[in-house]
Amino acid sequence: MKGGKELKEEVQDKGFCTLCGLCVGRCPYIKSLEDKIAVVFPCGIEEGKCYAACPRTFTDWDAVEAQVLGSVEGRDPLIGRYAQVWMARGTNSELTRGSQDGGTVTSLINTAIADGMIEGAVLTSSDDGLTPKAILATKADEVGKAAGSKYMAATSLQVLHEARRAGMEKLGIVGRPCQVMGVRKYQAVVPEECDRDKTLVIGLFCMWALSFGFRDYVRQEAGGRQVTGVAIPKGELQIKTTDGTISKSVEEAKQFARTACNLCWDVTSELADISVGAAEFAEGWNTLIVRSERGWNLLAKALNSGVLEIRDYPPAMLEELRMASLGKKRRVVAELQRVQSEGTSMVDLNSPRFQAVIEGEVN
Ligand SMILES: Cc1cc2nc3c(=O)[nH]c(=O)nc-3n(C[C@H](O)[C@H](O)[C@H](O)COP(=O)(O)OP(=O)(O)OC[C@H]3O[C@@H](n4cnc5c(N)ncnc54)[C@H](O)[C@@H]3O)c2cc1C
Repeated sequence: MKGGKELKEEVQDKGFCTLCGLCVGRCPYIKSLEDKIAVVFPCGIEEGKCYAACPRTFTDWDAVEAQVLGSVEGRDPLIGRYAQVWMARGTNSELTRGSQDGGTVTSLINTAIADGMIEGAVLTSSDDGLTPKAILATKADEVGKAAGSKYMAATSLQVLHEARRAGMEKLGIVGRPCQVMGVRKYQAVVPEECDRDKTLVIGLFCMWALSFGFRDYVRQEAGGRQVTGVAIPKGELQIKTTDGTISKSVEEAKQFARTACNLCWDVTSELADISVGAAEFAEGWNTLIVRSERGWNLLAKALNSGVLEIRDYPPAMLEELRMASLGKKRRVVAELQRVQSEGTSMVDLNSPRFQAVIEGEVN
């Protein structure tokens, strides 16, 4: 087994780190500052949990998926195992003010806290509408303040350890696909620290996250105006300020995409209990993928309490989502093959899920 020394050499020094934050906060020798994580002392522990749970060390996708969603029948090779896909949006504008799209995530987390399903949630808030800040939210106002996407990668999972130290067992986690994978690997490695039966995982869709250089760019574009948020609807970058919205091409944002994201196979958080993204064809709505029994239970509670509404998902739009995922998976397998040829094996490229994309057998 390997530990912090190998995590530094094999992940961080090579620029593969996703900034999930899982290793930060658990280990006193791993520190983060904005979009950098450093192993400040190679501790020499041979069986480091940091290494074992890192989403960028070798990952047996089939095994993790079987552990988490093994009972869910039917697997879509492009968006993972799921029970149902809907359009969804929050109905309580008090709760969802500041939400990115339909406020589905904020409504679901509030439902889970109000119901006692979770005691708190690991979220990504911000003090300036731009810079991500990991928080442990236990109340609706904290959940509401965290609403809205911070497109820069945030080390939010460090708060997971804070919650555990505070004695919290029933926890909600909202994260990018890499963070969802980190949590799932962690649950397998140290089940006593993050019980799968007591943790609710809501995964976001994500094509890429941005480096902190994006913040400087946005501030420059905003001039003296105060930035209240950023949105990236189809092909457009919108910088929202107290003086109106500045519109730019999405290509401006893309130049800050983290290279580590080129290795992320997962667009829709395939291992979450519930996955949520934008419904780009219907403003103010989300795409909601319910995967696990825990996800079903939460959705039922949110619908019963009236804070969420759902609609049938148009089949043509589902196909569009699947094709977007296929496009990313194609680019990513090429990148995974490249790093493997240079000595880093992150997944088993011979397994059917990867082979199907390599051979062009999925559609
Ligand atoms: C980096 C990034 C890239 C994304 N890319 C896509 C995409 O390509 N396609 C797509 O359909 N959707 C994408 N999303 C998801 C989308 O922006 C919305 O988060 C999603 O549609 C949920 O909307 P909502 O109104 O329900 O969320 P809200 O109710 O506004 O809640 C948003 C939640 O996201 C969490 N959050 C915010 N920033 C971060 C962050 N940096 N890391 C982890 N959690 C965060 C907050 O804790 C909050 O709970 C992306 C999100 C992020 C953060």
